[in-house]
Amino acid sequence: MEEVTNRYRHNQKLEEACTVLLNEIVEDPKREGLLRTPYRFQKAMQELTVGYHQNLSEIVGEALFHEDYSEMVIVRDIEFYSLCEHHLLPFFGKAHVAYIPNGKIIGLSKIPRIVNMYARRLQVQERLTDEISAALESLLGPQGVACVLEGNHMCMMMRGVQSQSSSMITNSMRGSFLNDQKTRDEFMKLISPRG
Ligand code: ZN
Repeated sequence: MEEVTNRYRHNQKLEEACTVLLNEIVEDPKREGLLRTPYRFQKAMQELTVGYHQNLSEIVGEALFHEDYSEMVIVRDIEFYSLCEHHLLPFFGKAHVAYIPNGKIIGLSKIPRIVNMYARRLQVQERLTDEISAALESLLGPQGVACVLEGNHMCMMMRGVQSQSSSMITNSMRGSFLNDQKTRDEFMKLISPRG
C-alpha cells in the first residue's frame, strides 16, 4: 500500500490511528467495507488539512496589482469546508469578504483560495474569520477589510443538542469597516441574501 499520489505521501501513522479507531468502535473491523478505510482515511485527512502546507505568498503569487480604484470590492458566497479543532468534525458554510483598496488590488480568484487555505487546517470559526481578514490586510494594506462567515457545525448538528438548523455567524472588521458605520452597513446590506 506504499503509494505516493501526485500530492500526498502515504502517511503510515495516520493509517494506524484509524485502525485503532476502528478497533475501538466497530464490532467487526475486518469486514470487507472497512479493509481499505485506514488507507482512505489517511489520504482524506491529509487533503482536509493541506492548508498547513500552503502559505500566502505561494497562493497569491503575482496576483497583486497597483490600481487607483477605491470603492468596496466584495466576493460573497465563497464556499468553505473546515474541521473544528475541538471535535475533528466538519464545519462548513459561506464566507463573504470585502476590502476597500488603498492603491493595491488582488486577483479576485485568489480570495477564495486564501479562505480555503485557512479553512483546510484545524480551526475554530472565530479564528478562521480573523485569519482571512488579517491576511488581506497584510497583503494589501487596504483602507479596510471585512470578513463574515456563516458556518454549520457538525459537532452541534449531529450530537448533543442537535440544533440542526442553527448556523453560527462570525465577523472580523478592520480599518474603515470597523470605524465607519456607513461602510459596515453598506457591506452588510450587500451580502444579505436579498442584497
Ligand atoms: Zn466542534
